[in-house]
Amino acid sequence: MDFGLQGKVAMVAAATKGIGLACARALADEGCRVSVCARQAPEAPIPDGWSFTACDVGRDEDISRWFDETEAVFGPPDIVVTNTGGPPAGTWPELSDAQWASGVETTLMNVVRCVRHAAPKMKEKGWGRIVHITSLVAKDPEPLLAVSSTVRSGLCSLTRLQAIELAPYGVTVNAVLPGHTLTDRQRHLAGLRAEQWGTSLEEVLERQGRTVPVGRLGRPEEIAAAVAFLCSSQASFVTGVNLLVDGGGAKGAG
Ligand code: NAD
Repeated sequence: MDFGLQGKVAMVAAATKGIGLACARALADEGCRVSVCARQAPEAPIPDGWSFTACDVGRDEDISRWFDETEAVFGPPDIVVTNTGGPPAGTWPELSDAQWASGVETTLMNVVRCVRHAAPKMKEKGWGRIVHITSLVAKDPEPLLAVSSTVRSGLCSLTRLQAIELAPYGVTVNAVLPGHTLTDRQRHLAGLRAEQWGTSLEEVLERQGRTVPVGRLGRPEEIAAAVAFLCSSQASFVTGVNLLVDGGGAKGAG
């Protein structure tokens, strides 16, 4: 299917690895001109024709510079995919106030700020697609991911508020909630659990795969496929949705 995205300007945050990188590739495959950012320079060279800005999405001045640099290279964005590296892991009582505050900056305020930057030009154009990468823990809280669970359940409401506000202008706002997906972050969290459980990282990943109804961990490309559809011209009547892409992993949440 042709998603009708040829020549669109797509900004994808936190996209030198994992789910963000897979989303950027999927949009590039659809003909988008892609601008990515990440806190650190990419380990591998970014593909020809992409633009890269070093940007910590927890800092508004960095986000502002990323939007300015993208506009200078490609023009204002038609598509914005918000993403981040994931807030500090830990149970709610053991996390410090500073860790809670940093989680709010990188996981919640990045979404507020990116949409603040993107919305005015999208409204002017009368077309836009915004997708937030959040998490299954928004619907199915996980004790070791207290900040992520708390902030991301709030993001479900923010997604709907932004969707309702921007719907009259042809701008859709949706969120994709990945389940366990095999990326560096998943390996890092598996390492923490391996220490807690006194087992190996491989054993934790294997066990996690078995807990997912489809019987395995997800692939970043499977999350990106859902994001690309939500960015498509065909998805013009889909807005305010918090879409689980989790192999059926969220218990009791639809
Ligand atoms: P990853 O560690 O593979 O990649 C993270 C990317 O974010 C990298 O490009 C890194 O440079 C960048 N980054 C990190 N902090 C940043 C910051 N402050 N500013 C800008 N860039 C930053 O991670 P991933 O698994 O792809 O996870 C992406 C998001 O998806 C995270 O927010 C995570 O919580 C969420 N998520 C992941 C899973 C999973 O199983 N992998 C499941 C649910 C939700």
